[in-house]
Amino acid sequence: MPKLKNNFFEGILFRYESYSCDCVEDVQHISKNEEPLRSYKLQALPSEDKLFAYAAQQGLVRIAKNGTIEESNILGRLISLPDKPFKELVSFVADNGFLFPISASNYETFDAGALYHIIRRIKNTVELMTAVNEIKKDYDQIFRLLMSLLFAPDFILKTDAMSEEYHCCHHPYADLLKNPNIELPDERKQEAFDKDYFTMQDTVYTNYQFSISEYNDIVSGYSTTPGYTDSRFKSITALYMNHAGNHSSRRITDFLFHYLHEVGVVKDDLSFYSKPDYRGLTSELKQAMLDVSKIIIGEEINANLAGIHPVYNIDKMSPSWKVDSLLCAAYFSIFYLNPELELYRPCQNPRCGKYFLVKATSTRVRYCSTACCNRVTQDRYRKKKREMEGK
Ligand SMILES: [Zn+2]
Repeated sequence: MPKLKNNFFEGILFRYESYSCDCVEDVQHISKNEEPLRSYKLQALPSEDKLFAYAAQQGLVRIAKNGTIEESNILGRLISLPDKPFKELVSFVADNGFLFPISASNYETFDAGALYHIIRRIKNTVELMTAVNEIKKDYDQIFRLLMSLLFAPDFILKTDAMSEEYHCCHHPYADLLKNPNIELPDERKQEAFDKDYFTMQDTVYTNYQFSISEYNDIVSGYSTTPGYTDSRFKSITALYMNHAGNHSSRRITDFLFHYLHEVGVVKDDLSFYSKPDYRGLTSELKQAMLDVSKIIIGEEINANLAGIHPVYNIDKMSPSWKVDSLLCAAYFSIFYLNPELELYRPCQNPRCGKYFLVKATSTRVRYCSTACCNRVTQDRYRKKKREMEGK
């Protein structure tokens, strides 16, 4: 096992030891007209050990035998994998090992979809953290990312070398939506009898007037407005009217209700049932979207910190951490990120796409390295030259 040189760099917050990993793809052809089933087989190679460390401003790095940094920005490379060909995953696990401890005696099989789902989930968390902290905010992107995290399917993964199953983050809000109470409280029934509008005191707007006939149309499922019969929208509307809840779930309900009701209802694939009306996206609703994003980011990170344990370093008489897997190390490095100072942005070189850390205030840095910047400049020059010659 390589050792970190003394005083190599200050402020190492944790380290993690692992092994290189072999990864092959199995393609099972079922029938001529069916898409073949793809699975990945992975096996640890204990003769090739790997050491990782995390330090402020450096992120998660891999340390070489001589104690220097062998590869920096492991997280940025990991989250660029879902958009890259399979061979990139093979080379990533050869360099850094698998996300979880795995068997060294035989290949273990993983569903390709589940594996990329887990990586995409880290990517969405990092992207959402960046998006909510960018000075110029893209609210469409923030909405897409928060919805895909909040309503992500549950995934469980277990390897022979793991003592317990890994569960992807499950947001408690999803449970609230399952069986919302559609029965109105008594004071609302009186209101419905006396007036045309419910007067709502919610966390987005004070004194919001919600049409009673519209409410009845939505919960009864007989509305003719596009999207109003969507079952998720119906549950959110029911929660909005009836659910007291804790502060977080109340904020999520109020945000979702107003966004879907006033901007537009979205389907499971996040496309709108009809043309969205962005006049509904007020400054109050934007603030609610940022707050909800922060709740979701917090839940995603907290759910992945279970494999991290405090240990006391008796040599240095100082606190340190033990990390159970590379996935935990990746989340731990997000946990330590200060997004007000640093953000992960994707490299604009289309052949690279790696996420890299930049100062939150710098809006001009677009490439992860000078090599990527030069490459794009050269490509542009060649393209232009070809166009000129073609004329
Ligand atoms: Zn790059």
